[in-house]
Amino acid sequence: MVPFGLYLHIPFCIHKCGYCDFNSHPMGDTDTRPYVEALTGEIESRSRGVEQEITSIFFGGGTPTTLEASQLTGLLTALRRNFSLSADCEITLEANPGTVRPDYLPRLREAGFNRISIGVQSFDPGELRLLERIHTPDEVEQTVHRARGAGFDNLSLDLMFALPGQTLQRWLENLDRALALEPEHLSCYNLTIEPNTAFQITFDAGQLVLPDEDLQLEMYRRTIETLTRRGYNRYEISNYAQPGRQCRHNRLYWLNGDHLGLGAGASSYVNGVRSRNIKSPARYTQAVTSGHNPAEFSERLDTRQAMGEHLMLGLRLKEGVDLDGFESRYRVGLASVFGDTLNRLLAQNLVTLDGGHLALTEDGLFLADSVILEFIS
Ligand code: SF4
Repeated sequence: MVPFGLYLHIPFCIHKCGYCDFNSHPMGDTDTRPYVEALTGEIESRSRGVEQEITSIFFGGGTPTTLEASQLTGLLTALRRNFSLSADCEITLEANPGTVRPDYLPRLREAGFNRISIGVQSFDPGELRLLERIHTPDEVEQTVHRARGAGFDNLSLDLMFALPGQTLQRWLENLDRALALEPEHLSCYNLTIEPNTAFQITFDAGQLVLPDEDLQLEMYRRTIETLTRRGYNRYEISNYAQPGRQCRHNRLYWLNGDHLGLGAGASSYVNGVRSRNIKSPARYTQAVTSGHNPAEFSERLDTRQAMGEHLMLGLRLKEGVDLDGFESRYRVGLASVFGDTLNRLLAQNLVTLDGGHLALTEDGLFLADSVILEFIS
């Protein structure tokens, strides 16, 4: 079956974290009902013409768990009514530990959500305050226990390292606290200072000092070493999973598969056409409610662009890019288009051609962003 995914964007958060550049908005006393109604309307209109079976659904944000359980289950019901979901469809919910009440998760599990991704970032109270997270370490543990109690047997934790003032020891303690909760999946990203965030202003003023490059690299290496020893497979640059527990939805992105993004600012890629919805939740809601197409941007990629994107995404996966798959999709061999780049990177030992795949080497993985850029510049 050819995978096809749906992404639903819930743009509300209790508080905007200082480092965050996602399309997320402090909700205050916002009435979320009009947005959810608009999203339901978009589900109905965009489902027309989609014949494929849906193999994964991802409710992301923002903070999806700012919605009432009944709103989330209502959206899932609308998806079931309008799309054909595969019997084993992966249905992920992103959850913020500061928003999950005791009776919340059982209702979602019962409705069909079968994977939960919990935004932890750190187990250190000082680091959580610095990141402006709204939850405590205890609430993380409580949320994991509640998720397990509700029957979620596919659980992921998001962590962040290379935080200002963080030592190697403190990062490894965070990792240990996460491992003690026995998640099936872990995402470990290093903090980056994104443009137009509160952190950028403090960083530019010299008030936020990140660990130096050597320490960041050591944190990265020790993460790989620790998680590999504990039975997790690093299947993507920043993602680790127990056997059979890779995130199907994110794999679809990295494999450059078709997906429909619904909600404010959500991106889609279907049949070679890339599009993106209006970013502002209020303007998105107004557009859908008044019967307009909420897409503010749409383009058909030419073959060269599509091939570049395919490599850019696929090389993030440890297994790399399947050469036969590439050739059958674009009707041309990868080497005949990217021969010069390929030979240069092979000579530098940054990529390998092995088992019918082009993949980054260990050295290439450490320099992933710049190596990948070589294929698209
Ligand atoms: S909770 Fe997540 S999406 Fe919301 S502001 Fe914080 S980092 Fe951004």
